Amino acid sequence: MRAAVRWPQAGDVLRLLLFLLFAYLVFPTPLDGLDWLPLHLTAAGAILILAIAVDVSRSGFRSLKFSQTFYITLYAAAGLAVKIGMDHVDFIPLIFFVVFPVTLFARDFRYFWIPSAVLAGVALGRFLFHSETALLSWTGLFFLFSLILGRIMSRDALRFDNLKEIHQRLLDDARDMGWRIRDQDGLEVLSRRKQMEISAALEEDALLQGFMRMGCYLMNAVSGILLIPDEHKGYRIRAATVSRLYSKSVKNGSVSGEKGIIHLAREHGGLLIQSDLRPGAVTIPFYSEEVPVRSILVRIVTSPSTGEEQAGDGDQRIQGVVYFDSTEPDAFEKNEALISRLDIFCEMLSQMMDTGSLLRRVTWDVRSKLAIAGYAEKLTRTLDPLMIAREAVDTIIKGVPKCDGAVFLLNDEDVKVVYSEGKSVEGLEGTVIPGDMSSQIGLLIRNRSEIVFGRVRTKPAPFFHRKESLGRIVSFAAIPSLTEKEGEDQLMAVLVGVSSNPDVFNADAVKDLRVIADITAQAVDNAMAHREVDRLSRLDGLTGLYNHRTFQWILDQRIERIGRDYGKSLAVIMVDVDFFKDINDTYGHPVGDEVLRGLADRLKDSVRDLDRVARYGGEEFAVILDNVDLKEADKIAEKLRSVVESSGINTTSGPLSLTVSMGYAILAKGDSTSKQELLDRADKALYQAKKQGRNRVVGWDELV
Ligand code: GH3
Ligand code: MG
Ligand code: MG
Repeated sequence: MRAAVRWPQAGDVLRLLLFLLFAYLVFPTPLDGLDWLPLHLTAAGAILILAIAVDVSRSGFRSLKFSQTFYITLYAAAGLAVKIGMDHVDFIPLIFFVVFPVTLFARDFRYFWIPSAVLAGVALGRFLFHSETALLSWTGLFFLFSLILGRIMSRDALRFDNLKEIHQRLLDDARDMGWRIRDQDGLEVLSRRKQMEISAALEEDALLQGFMRMGCYLMNAVSGILLIPDEHKGYRIRAATVSRLYSKSVKNGSVSGEKGIIHLAREHGGLLIQSDLRPGAVTIPFYSEEVPVRSILVRIVTSPSTGEEQAGDGDQRIQGVVYFDSTEPDAFEKNEALISRLDIFCEMLSQMMDTGSLLRRVTWDVRSKLAIAGYAEKLTRTLDPLMIAREAVDTIIKGVPKCDGAVFLLNDEDVKVVYSEGKSVEGLEGTVIPGDMSSQIGLLIRNRSEIVFGRVRTKPAPFFHRKESLGRIVSFAAIPSLTEKEGEDQLMAVLVGVSSNPDVFNADAVKDLRVIADITAQAVDNAMAHREVDRLSRLDGLTGLYNHRTFQWILDQRIERIGRDYGKSLAVIMVDVDFFKDINDTYGHPVGDEVLRGLADRLKDSVRDLDRVARYGGEEFAVILDNVDLKEADKIAEKLRSVVESSGINTTSGPLSLTVSMGYAILAKGDSTSKQELLDRADKALYQAKKQGRNRVVGWDELV
């Protein structure tokens, strides 16, 4: 592998002149000038700094590479040290004369052979003509010196061979891993460690970026950019390493392949080199401002023709575009060495990208299966529809590559969005979707069929509802979650995946979504059934009011709440129908039931939202009044009584009129009265009301 020769530039000439001045000051009579003066040293230091400063003034302080300063200083220090230590040897100045300019030009340790050859020639000449051996031994020393410096300079020169080896290993590992996962069906055997290995291998971004940085080094470029085809037939930046001088000028977004430098490169057989660009003469589409770029190199990377997924008619698929630039004119010379280096670089890059996508596919495969398995497992532990929604959304986003949002709609009386995640679907929660033609989901609700969009270009009919204002959605998939009930498909939920990337919901992804939808249907069905059982266990079967058990529970809570300083007091009213036996006896038990139902509705409608009405037993009801004092409780009870008295209850035997008797008791804040005592008091008051002739309200306080 050979490095390109870097021909002297104006700045180099200036540096050389400065160097000569430097040398003159240090060694006034070069080959035997050993009179060293402190003044010279000072001047030399100043010039050394100046030489570095030239570089800085040309391209800004940031462009000053550590290595450059380091080498120059190292040379100066080594030279001076040797000079001070070995004052008697006239050979030393040569080191400065030869090595310094050469390394300044080549900046490459491989060019040490030049000063070495010069030295060897001189030494040999002296030996032949003057039989002088001193210089010969000094030449040997110089070789040693060069070798040590060479090692230091090669520290950051990543050699191709080495890189090739690493790359091959990565490739083998990836294939091996891929097969292993497929062979054993992944799920059970894929240990956590293996997963981590895969994700580590998938640090593709970092890998590609490093690779481009190495490309810059190989090509002697300042910046390197890798572009890949995007969904709009253009190209977008995949990895970039750009000089800090103009890294801020890099634009994001799509770059056209139909015109400009990429088009030109394609026209020129895949390789475009332009030298000595005038600033602003060529627009480089991914830089926003005028950048100080003087040379560019563009190379099209095609994937090796494997016969699969070939686009176009026999055309090789363009896998990417490699771009290098330099702030120096004529930085890239189209010669054999450069082309072969570029070929190898691009071939490796191409393989690397292939490996990356293979690994990504396999990993996603395994990852989504793991996510789905995890979802199924989690659902066995939850009966809360909201939890199911959250887990489902989480699973979709984790399970489908590039899916960046999901929505969960539950079909419970209305089809309603219960949970959503992702920027583009923010603010949807709580929305009720009508099952009509006004939206995609509406259609799905009607037809129970999946809706999948690979690429939403122009805005289609609304996804969810007419007034939606969603972010950018490019891919969209809505899958119904169905269970079979009495031979019919019943819609339990709708799962929606959205993404700002195109073609996210391919056949594989939709298959995964269907699995998630199936699991969801079961889970929602279970949850609904459980909710129903739970509801039934809390309510009275005849009237739909809270049953006795729930009444006791609510009363406990309310009493505890007063203890916690909430509200001032509460009241319990016991209600008993007067002469209910007569109704049963006259009209029969079923009509008696109707009366109880009608009475329950009436009581419930006549109290405030926070109050609770329960069926205490038989034809007895209990009411908990929230936050009332004696007077208010009495007023409310009286109102209930008169409502019942004044309006009959409709039954199949016509409207029946009836009256109720009530007894109530109060529990004020700070009272030590127990729940049982409170209930006994209300009961006693009720008994008193009956005793006093029925159809009346009695407070326990009136009894004592
Ligand atoms: P009063 O309360 O005014 O003293 O007279 P009453 O006739 O209402 O007497 P009591 O409260 O003792 O009678 C309760 C009757 O209510 C007994 C029972 O047959 C009837 N009953 C209890 N539960 C139900 C029910 O669920 N449906 C029907 N139809 N009747 C019920
Ligand atoms: Mg009774
Ligand atoms: Mg009664």
